[in-house]
Amino acid sequence: MTKVINCGNLKIGGNNKITVQSMLNFNLSNNINQAIDQVKLLEANGCDIIRASIDSEEDAKAIKTLKKYTNMPIIADIQFDYKMALYAVENGIDAIRINPCYIGSEDNVKKVIEACKDKNIPIRVGVNSGSVKKEFLDKYNGVNQFSLVESALEQVKLVEKYNYDNIVISIKATNVKLTYDANIELKKRTDYPIHLGITESGSDEDGIIKTSMGLGSLILLGIGDTIRVSLTEDPVREVIIGRKILQYLGLRPYGIDVISCPTCGRTKVDLINIVKDVKKAVAPIKKDIKIAIMGCAVNGPGEAREADIGFASGNGEALLFKKGEIIRKVNEEEIIKVLLEEIEKIN
Ligand code: SF4
Repeated sequence: MTKVINCGNLKIGGNNKITVQSMLNFNLSNNINQAIDQVKLLEANGCDIIRASIDSEEDAKAIKTLKKYTNMPIIADIQFDYKMALYAVENGIDAIRINPCYIGSEDNVKKVIEACKDKNIPIRVGVNSGSVKKEFLDKYNGVNQFSLVESALEQVKLVEKYNYDNIVISIKATNVKLTYDANIELKKRTDYPIHLGITESGSDEDGIIKTSMGLGSLILLGIGDTIRVSLTEDPVREVIIGRKILQYLGLRPYGIDVISCPTCGRTKVDLINIVKDVKKAVAPIKKDIKIAIMGCAVNGPGEAREADIGFASGNGEALLFKKGEIIRKVNEEEIIKVLLEEIEKIN
């Protein structure tokens, strides 16, 4: 089991729920109003932790303003300048994400660690496939799970050297299999909480498939304490995908799960559009239930036995069923109305 660390009002690691993170794509000092709107939207969609790039003292000062609008812990993303980390700590940040090897002399690293230690702020360290040190590339013959893990653990050792162990580690690659192998190797060698992600995964299906495969397979092995879906898309979509990954692994509820059949030669209705309409209608409902929309009465109710409630459509009528048992017939045009009424009755 991993160590538990405190990140603002949340606990990461151990038996705590896996948290979902995202990153603001507005600059805090230049676009604070957009950043505030985005933070609210992300939180409303189930984001647990937010990260923001801190590239100036003004960005760091804006953390205080942002905090007025959210309960989520905020992580400062620091690139090369250690002073940005110090400013962020001064302005009430909840965690810091740095690559200690990128922020210059050890003395600078020490200053950041001491500042975090003073306020018990966690530090996320780690590498991605593009930032492995040459020393480890030479030693392990390129980018692989061993060079990635050595690189990450070198950063951990540097933080530990100053008697600090409030650490989260991440190892991300663009390649799914490499991310998988590296995190398995990492887990063997550390008990710090692990942040999972597939870096630069792309957009749409590409990014969603890579992320779901990489994160899903690791989480099923019990690896991963906090996740970020990195898509070239609106961060809100990252959060929705992240939450759905956890929902479909049975780890965290995230509203109604709509299951539906793939359609076949027996389908007599426009099931594709019916399902789209149903999903739209039930989207705001927060209940943790499964509903099934099936294309025929012969196989539909039986195949969707695991659903709490469902419809099997065909020939102008639909059969309403609950847990595989047919309850009654409904006019096909009334499917959504009846479904919403029935969902209302479920506690
Ligand atoms: S539920 Fe009926 S319509 Fe849908 S795929 Fe199965 S057999 Fe075909």
